[in-house]
Amino acid sequence: MTYDPRFRRTKLIATIGPSSASRDTLVRLIQAGVNVFRINSSHGTPELRASWMEIVREVRASIGRHVALLVDLQGPRIRVGDLRAPLTLEPGSEVTFAPESDAKAGEVPTTYAALADDVKPGARILLDDGLLEVHVTRVTGRRVHGTVRHGGQLKSHKGMNLPGVQVSAPAVTDKDVEDVALAIAHSADYIAVSFVRRAADVEAVRALVPKSVRLVAKIEKAAALTDLSGIIQASDAIMVARGDLGVELPFEEVPLVQKRVIREANRRGRAVITATQMLESMVQAPRPTRAEASDVANAILDGTDTVMLSAETAAGQYPVESVEAMVRIIHEIERSGLVDRHAIRGPSAQGSSVEDAIALATVDAAEMLDVPLIVCFTRSGFTAKKVSALRPGIPILALSTEASTCRHLALVWGVIPELADRVPNYDAMLDVARETLLARGYVKEGDRIVVTAGVPFEVPGTTNLLKVETV
Ligand code: PEP
Repeated sequence: MTYDPRFRRTKLIATIGPSSASRDTLVRLIQAGVNVFRINSSHGTPELRASWMEIVREVRASIGRHVALLVDLQGPRIRVGDLRAPLTLEPGSEVTFAPESDAKAGEVPTTYAALADDVKPGARILLDDGLLEVHVTRVTGRRVHGTVRHGGQLKSHKGMNLPGVQVSAPAVTDKDVEDVALAIAHSADYIAVSFVRRAADVEAVRALVPKSVRLVAKIEKAAALTDLSGIIQASDAIMVARGDLGVELPFEEVPLVQKRVIREANRRGRAVITATQMLESMVQAPRPTRAEASDVANAILDGTDTVMLSAETAAGQYPVESVEAMVRIIHEIERSGLVDRHAIRGPSAQGSSVEDAIALATVDAAEMLDVPLIVCFTRSGFTAKKVSALRPGIPILALSTEASTCRHLALVWGVIPELADRVPNYDAMLDVARETLLARGYVKEGDRIVVTAGVPFEVPGTTNLLKVETV
């Protein structure tokens, strides 16, 4: 089938920040191709973030698009505390870290009161995204002393990473609990859990949210890689959070970890997001570098569902241009037909359940008959995700009576969500599908479509029907 740019398969997340948090810019970002807006709870006051969440709600309602809202929790991030003035750390000099509450002038205050309990001599402390590095030499009481290996200027509130250290901080902080409540109050569709170390960390957030909120586990710590399949199983989606990952791990390990996490998420049928610094130079420039274009392309070739923009849209000078550049790269790669869909295929290809069998038969039938669309009737999104995991060469129209399902599917590869009125049975749903497909110009009268669903519609998690219909 020839490539139709209306059916872009790879999805796009844009982070909202001062550069983009206006109605006008959000509309332009959606029109340029954004599927999901992300709000990073590490920045801004709760009031400011709440106002951004409301703008997202208003804008998506006013233009009638199924754009999801993802709230990213700060998690147990360790930071430098308040410094009266920036400190210059000279290479080779001695430095002392102390809890914020009793740090003296010249010491580095830290928000993590238990630092001295967790680090031992020989550990490394990385500051400001790994730009500065300190080797720990001694621990005395609540203080940690070390030698500066890579120096520079240190400002207040910069991040601290402790690679390889078993951090005893709880997975969900008091701030996270407040930010989860804020996200729920403003109808977030996804919450991203930061610094996940094990499946239980995701389950701890699960206990705080209603079923309508789906969870993304951010893979950004070495420890997460030892429980990767458990974490994927416990989550609704996964993020390769390369910013912190590349500080926690040697940066040369990030490319292969990205491939491993994407492949594992594909195999288990979870949507996977590739994030951070994808078009970083576009914070200041109207065009990406060639290396950045290649990075986005390679994430798609690896099998990512979604690519993400961070500072580019949150704080950059070219938010709309960044989305446009991303979309151009996605189209080029998808049009090439070089994505090895069979290598990426998910669990239904090997599974043995009725759902797997129906999903596989749906994709095979659609490809064999070369239909223009696969139509899924899906209440919870389960059926559409099963089909997406098989990476069909044909777009998937997901018809759901639930607006929240439509928004969840905004993150999922290859799925075009459409809201349907409440419909009592399969025939009524098929009529709605026909009307929608013709009205949108997706098919012509007389075209065949492959339809899959779980019936009865009220029971989520069943995919048991496959029909070939004529529009
Ligand atoms: C990352 O570390 O890559 C990431 C996405 O998380 P944050 O932006 O919260 O640092």
